[in-house]
Amino acid sequence: MVHIVGAGCGAPDLITLRGKRLLEEADVIIYAGSLVNKELLNYRKDGCRIYDSAEMTLEEIISVIRDAEDSGLTTVRLHTGDPSLYGAIGEQMKKLGELGIEYDITPGVSSFSGAAASLKTEYTLPDVSQTVIITRAAGKTPVPDRESLRSLASHGATMVLFLSAGLLGKVTDELISGGYKPETPAAIVYKASWEDEKICRCTVAELKKTAEENGISKTAIIAVGDFLESEFSRSHLYDPRFSTGFREAKE
Ligand code: SAH
Repeated sequence: MVHIVGAGCGAPDLITLRGKRLLEEADVIIYAGSLVNKELLNYRKDGCRIYDSAEMTLEEIISVIRDAEDSGLTTVRLHTGDPSLYGAIGEQMKKLGELGIEYDITPGVSSFSGAAASLKTEYTLPDVSQTVIITRAAGKTPVPDRESLRSLASHGATMVLFLSAGLLGKVTDELISGGYKPETPAAIVYKASWEDEKICRCTVAELKKTAEENGISKTAIIAVGDFLESEFSRSHLYDPRFSTGFREAKE
């Protein structure tokens, strides 16, 4: 059995209780060493074998899993944040399926959630934006044309960019040509929830300069939109004038 587990975005106590239990029980742990906090490996039991997937190909990962399966062992494949986002688990699951190897997934705290917590902000403020666009700038991995930053920018919604901290000149150009004003608030959250986390607030126009000044070129979430400093209306959820499924209106 293979358990694909989200490690959370950094701080070791952001893993779920289920993820921690699976780590404690695993015979083999394959972890994404480039981003997963190594302190999580302290949960392993004696004799657990550890592999760092940063140094491995997909074929090598599958081969380790296959050997474990042949010996009746349990593997945890530990991914950073939540495995469903930029985790390359699709290709792993395909191979496991082809080999008839059973697996399940335990979600994790994605870095886009970790970044919002670090910023002490809400992405979905009433009257400001009720949509979060999660995307990335095209790099080595292409992005489909219909999802260009320029076209996504036309919505003016809250936008969260992964994997883009080294491409901020291009990001700013596309966001502005797509419709965000240059002075739209933006934030760069480097290593959210880690001890060396950095939070930089700026505008869309200042993203590249701000990242350079702070020595940030990777492991950052870029957040863009008026949610970062707008005036906004309060929600209906906690407004005494509105009834909900749990509470009658008072006026
Ligand atoms: N599955 C992960 C994302 C993996 S892709 C998740 O849900 O968070 C790797 C990218 O995630 C990095 O380039 C960066 O954009 C972002 N990232 C991962 N950990 C981060 C952290 N602690 N703080 C800020 N960004 C992070």
